[in-house]
Amino acid sequence: MALIVQKYGGTSVGSIERIKAIAERIKFAKDQGHDVVVSVSAMGDSTNKLIALSRQVFSDKNMTQDCSREMDVLLSSGEQVSASLLAMSLQEIGIAACSLLGHQVSIQTDAKHRRARIDSIGTERLVETIKLGQVPIVAGFQGVTSKGDVTTLGRGGSDTTAVALAAALNADECQIYTDVDGIYTTDPRIEPGARKLDQITYEEMLELSSLGSQIMQTRAMEFANKCHIPIRVLSSFNSDFTTQGNGTLITNKYNDAEAPLVAGITFTRDESEINIRNLPDMPGMAYKILKPISEQDIEVDMIVQSATRDGHIDFSFTVHRENFAKALLSVEKTSLNFENTLINSNAHVVKLSVVGVGMRSHAGVATTIFEALANEGINIRMISTSEIKVSVLIDENLLDKGVRCLHKAFALNQKKET
Ligand code: ADP
Ligand code: ASP
Ligand code: MG
Repeated sequence: MALIVQKYGGTSVGSIERIKAIAERIKFAKDQGHDVVVSVSAMGDSTNKLIALSRQVFSDKNMTQDCSREMDVLLSSGEQVSASLLAMSLQEIGIAACSLLGHQVSIQTDAKHRRARIDSIGTERLVETIKLGQVPIVAGFQGVTSKGDVTTLGRGGSDTTAVALAAALNADECQIYTDVDGIYTTDPRIEPGARKLDQITYEEMLELSSLGSQIMQTRAMEFANKCHIPIRVLSSFNSDFTTQGNGTLITNKYNDAEAPLVAGITFTRDESEINIRNLPDMPGMAYKILKPISEQDIEVDMIVQSATRDGHIDFSFTVHRENFAKALLSVEKTSLNFENTLINSNAHVVKLSVVGVGMRSHAGVATTIFEALANEGINIRMISTSEIKVSVLIDENLLDKGVRCLHKAFALNQKKET
């Protein structure tokens, strides 16, 4: 008998029919003698619909008001609906269940509304519920501040709820049920030939998530990487309810001593690039440009500074597209302090990344990337590397072509049946 945390994403609870199907899956795990704790997302695209509703009453064009507290009250309602419907569906098939909201299980967070971080989870109510023979159905994505205000954990935050619950309860496995049957070498929506991985390391999945792979929220992977909770990504649409050996296991290391060179390829769509030319080459220039940007809580991603030319440099960086206007305004203001600067910007760029722990021991990955992109006539605008990843910035309309050519260059396609 094991303690299993199961998380069901939006598509998996997208309709009453789906919720009933999930109830049967939970019943199967219970019938096998396991203790099950469930965390759910909001039904289908209901979070997007709630955001659209808010836009009808609140325009943040001037960015003078902060409605993030109210947004959290609004957005957290989506998970409340699915948690209660799933609990009722379970009761209907004879399984005792109890829906629980974030504050009821003391999912304590900081007060950063819309992207709060979990500080702690109280396990008392969960343990009590399990002891009563009930399945706790925890509303994902939400928490509560020390003041008692509702918070949400950022888009895709139910993944983090599930992993944090699994860590707090010291669960045997955290199962993430979604609309694909595991983690693939790249998003199968872009490359239909993508191959499902049997396993992947925490480190690789953390890198893939932070570089855009939406299948697991980055913060969920940060938790998992710290606590080493075994995570299995599975399809909730699979009629086979057994989990052993299915899906993709996110784990500490590969069984196989030889890690693959490249585990996967990922991308972030909403990038933007700002370039300032002819800045004087002097100490503190990067600080002068980037300080006012970080003061607005804007995260800068890739940074490139050219070699000095007649005492001048060019400085380029990227930010998420939603922060483009603010960052550009800030750069325009700062550059007024210097003569003859020239600003170029582009809000139609994307970042492609190739990730794999095998890169540590193999040279030449970057060359393969550059060759593959060159052969397709894809221009690289910026490059950044770390021990286990190489990222390139390219035009947004070349995204699909770029993903597919890199997938091919590293021979990641499905192995052909012989
Ligand atoms: P959920 O609603 O269950 O949380 P998400 O939409 O957040 O599901 O994540 C699942 C989606 O992630 C898949 O439908 C798939 O298109 C996308 N995805 C992106 N990268 C990958 C990858 N490497 N492997 C599998 N799916 C991926
Ligand atoms: N419902 C939230 C979202 O759409 C949280 C989640 O699905 O994980 O982002
Ligand atoms: Mg998700």
